Amino acid sequence: MATRLFIDGQWTEAGGEPIPTRDPATGTVLEDVGTATQADVDAAVAAARRALASPEWAGLAPVQRAKLLFRLADLVDEHHEELAALETRDQGQPIGVSRQVSVTGAAEHLRYFAGWATKIQGTTNPVSFPDTLHYTRREPVGVNALITPWNFPLMILVWKLAPALATGNTVVIKPSEVTPLTSIRLVRLAEQAGLPPGVVNLVTGDGPVGAMLSSHHDVDHVSYTGSTAVGKLITAASAESNLKRLTLELGGKAPSIIAADADLDAAVAGNLAGATLNTGQVCAAYTRFYVDRKREQEFVEKMAAGLAGLQVGPGLEETTQVGPLVSDKHRRHVANLVATGRSEGADLITGGAEVDRDGYFYQPTLFAGVTDSMTIMREEIFGPVLAVTPYDDPDELVARANDTQYGLAATVWTRDIRTAQRYADGIRAGAVFVNMPPIPDMAAPWGGYKASGWGREMGPWALDAYTETKAVWLHYGY
Ligand code: NAD
Repeated sequence: MATRLFIDGQWTEAGGEPIPTRDPATGTVLEDVGTATQADVDAAVAAARRALASPEWAGLAPVQRAKLLFRLADLVDEHHEELAALETRDQGQPIGVSRQVSVTGAAEHLRYFAGWATKIQGTTNPVSFPDTLHYTRREPVGVNALITPWNFPLMILVWKLAPALATGNTVVIKPSEVTPLTSIRLVRLAEQAGLPPGVVNLVTGDGPVGAMLSSHHDVDHVSYTGSTAVGKLITAASAESNLKRLTLELGGKAPSIIAADADLDAAVAGNLAGATLNTGQVCAAYTRFYVDRKREQEFVEKMAAGLAGLQVGPGLEETTQVGPLVSDKHRRHVANLVATGRSEGADLITGGAEVDRDGYFYQPTLFAGVTDSMTIMREEIFGPVLAVTPYDDPDELVARANDTQYGLAATVWTRDIRTAQRYADGIRAGAVFVNMPPIPDMAAPWGGYKASGWGREMGPWALDAYTETKAVWLHYGY
């Protein structure tokens, strides 16, 4: 029997064909997960709409909403090891990453936003109309569809769920069909935490189920993380339906600038982490390396040695540093781009092949001698594939780093604060990391410029995505 959908507080059978989800370390099927039909999606949206105005949810004091989120965070902690192992089995990420980044990160986000539930404020405003009290208040945006990708399924879901609930919204979750298991588990924990029926709904399935939500006339907001291509489809669906609000966290192709004065060993360690975390399946992963020509050879040698020395293996083995890619389809995508890199004339320094074992493993790969126009320098690979190019003139670097459709993250490695600030000023990206890997934090905004997306998640910025600002004009001079 396929895993069921959660609609209006009930687990129900999905109307569509089940989709198997696989362990990427072995290729074996873990579970069949149901596919929602249009009728299922309509029922989930209707339940979320009803719950939005229900006394059980709308009538809760903010402090009670906070309590529910704290309780859910405690349940995540209580099931920490189970959730981490499940994430690793379904997604492939090394168990240490599942524990520290995915599960601990999820609990921290829930607590952080639980704290916000009691601190959402309006303003009073000095309008010019006489004898008028003008104030604003923040209201929930309404019914939110949360559509998530496969790279950090649990954590990215919580990035959306926590601020949505803290601000009094209701949600319909649509996890990636490739990695749905921890999302389903989290919904069971939300049920256990005591969230009223209809506040959190879950519909599983593939892209067409996401499309039913993004084109739905009774969804007020889609918060989506995934590819830029699908982000454009969602934007079109919003425009053609009810012009629903969109938060879009899309692709990236982060540049890493290694200045002549960089501490090279620190740069190698930080860039190895920044490029290979979760097998490079990170939207902010460092991928385009611009290295001062004087340090290029040393950097390439040290990075190649570092990459070749990484322990590649199943995520459940404690010593694994690089797990499998998420699916066979994705491994073919990575392999095709590596083949394109070779055919366009880049020098393959290390890696460049599948690992000869079960599962979807791919060797950490380094190209040098790359030019700015090569495909591997321009397209998001979303795997452990790094491209190095030298630079002679720092004055050209801002333009070269910005020569991309993306603008999610960037990094600079230097000992000189003026160099750091110059690139931090010039690079058009949502986050610039100086001398460190790309890490998200619940207190820092996350989001992209250009084709990397719209809006910001995390911190107080996330509250904007899930609230409407209502202005009330109260004239008392009659
Ligand atoms: P994807 O776009 O293939 O799928 C993401 C989700 O969208 C899935 O749930 C999928 O079922 C759904 N979907 C597919 N077609 C749809 C449609 N037409 N309408 C609505 N929903 C649809 O992305 P992915 O391959 O799962 O994830 C990898 C991508 O996500 C990469 O491009 C990566 O950069 C991006 N990403 C971005 C961030 C960020 O914060 N900016 C974070 C993680 C991943």
